[in-house]
Amino acid sequence: MITANYIKNEYIRRMPSAFCPGCGDGQILNAIARAIDHLKLPRNEIAAVSGIGCSAWIPSPYLRVDSLHTTHGRPIAFATGLKVANPKLKVLVVSGDGDCTGIGGNHLLHAARSNVGITVIMVNNGVYAMTGGQVAPTTEHEYKTVTTPYGNPAFALNVSEVVAAAGASYVARWTTWHMNQLIRSIEKGLTKKGFSFIEVISQCPTYEGRILNMDHIQMLHWFRDKFKTDEKGVFRIGEFVDIEKPELTDELQKIIEKVRK
Ligand code: SF4
Repeated sequence: MITANYIKNEYIRRMPSAFCPGCGDGQILNAIARAIDHLKLPRNEIAAVSGIGCSAWIPSPYLRVDSLHTTHGRPIAFATGLKVANPKLKVLVVSGDGDCTGIGGNHLLHAARSNVGITVIMVNNGVYAMTGGQVAPTTEHEYKTVTTPYGNPAFALNVSEVVAAAGASYVARWTTWHMNQLIRSIEKGLTKKGFSFIEVISQCPTYEGRILNMDHIQMLHWFRDKFKTDEKGVFRIGEFVDIEKPELTDELQKIIEKVRK
């Protein structure tokens, strides 16, 4: 039987937690560990890459696989290089919404377009959490943050829809309330041939929660009530894309073989 202790001992490095109490990042670490365990993937066949932000700490240092903790917004670029150099590797990126769509938005688009076979888990808490809760590309319209005290005048980017339109093989969105669905999506993403993207709406009780006057439990209940499979726009959850199409490193290999002939 898979117990919490087994997951902790097998997949998680024992060190003090950098996450605030009640942060969704610990749940996402747990979901990744369980997905790897369900798939029985050898840990030496997985590499995790992260950029800068609270969620960058999920794989590095906590997940017990080889990891690269890179620069702000660049984990997908590093991950693409890793995958091209060693196509057999399962390459997992964990990136926050600011890292992935603000600073790193261009890399995200082109990774989806080229369908490189990496899995990106984007942790979306709607703010730049690690730097103090500033407005992000994913902040909802009229939401208050430390830099939009009268409400966000702009609108949240629907990241999953953008990635789907850019050409990814697999796209899903869940919240930290939907743990079983999230684990199954990570399993699918890790076994998918092409680019897989999993958006996880996650609670930041320290900044978002403080402004909304909610603790982490109230935030989870809020996710349960607000995000539905039959909702529209940024509140819709579920699997949006699950298709088979040529993957970048396979296409590169074909070119290499053609040139060698
Ligand atoms: S600031 Fe927010 S996102 Fe960062 S660790 Fe604390 S609760 Fe989590």
